[in-house]
Amino acid sequence: MYFNDKTTIYLNGHFVKATNANTDLYSQTLHYGYGVFEGIRAYDTHNGTRVFKAKEHYERLKNSCKLINIPFDYDVDDLIEQTYKVLKLNNFKDAYVRPLVFCGPNMSLTKPNSVSIMICAWEWAAYLGDNLLNVTISSFSRPHPKSTKIEAKVCGHYVNSILAASEAKEKGFDEAILLDTDGFLAEGPGSNLFFEKNGKLFTPKTGNILPGITRATVIDLCKNLEIELVEGEFLPEDLANADGAFLCGTAAEIIGLQSLENKKFTREWNATLGKKLQTAYKNLVLEKQLQETN
Ligand code: PMP
Repeated sequence: MYFNDKTTIYLNGHFVKATNANTDLYSQTLHYGYGVFEGIRAYDTHNGTRVFKAKEHYERLKNSCKLINIPFDYDVDDLIEQTYKVLKLNNFKDAYVRPLVFCGPNMSLTKPNSVSIMICAWEWAAYLGDNLLNVTISSFSRPHPKSTKIEAKVCGHYVNSILAASEAKEKGFDEAILLDTDGFLAEGPGSNLFFEKNGKLFTPKTGNILPGITRATVIDLCKNLEIELVEGEFLPEDLANADGAFLCGTAAEIIGLQSLENKKFTREWNATLGKKLQTAYKNLVLEKQLQETN
């Protein structure tokens, strides 16, 4: 599914076959979730294969390591170069890229003894599909920012995401919306949340969420499109009373919400700011704007 006997990955400075690569069963990352990763997308644009916001993603990888004290002895520009090589070696033009920084054997709850990096890629459709989603408020809250470095993309944080997403699916919903520990809207298990009311867009402020690179892109697009955006603390009722809403993330891109707890948002998706932003985002990742101005 994610690899076959032809797949090549980047591992600690070398390109190796995925089938020949392995990891240590005593890895601190495997036992304790003490590792960091990224999710990046490459697009087949008219300018060739382009890794969208590559620098931002690798800078976040570096910063995630720094925040949780994993030594990061890699050069961001070099990692970007290696990413393009991974894509080329696998003949991928349109793919999802997954860098992972993981730790060697160490069963103590101490800083790592050794650190590795791998970069793999696979062809992946939009993570949450293309259909509008029916979401539910999760019984799980996001981890409290005083219990971890919530702005870091840490492997272990994703236990929380898996619990929330699988609970939502078991209840018949497409996706979960998690609150923070104070009961304010936070984010999806792997995406950030936006909603609109009376022509204005709203999104939870940073502090209790992963500050998404797609979220930052949407904020930039709002400036270009002169859409008024408010970052703040919002309650589930604010989402329930919204005209429309969407989730966004590298893997999910921008995906509209149909309903919250089976109650439909009032505005047709095609008439929402979300739809407008979805189109603008697609044009941006495919570098279509450049084509138009050239
Ligand atoms: N929140 C969480 C918890 C995530 O896992 C992701 C995906 N990385 C996002 C938000 C969106 O982040 P990005 O736009 O950088 O992919």
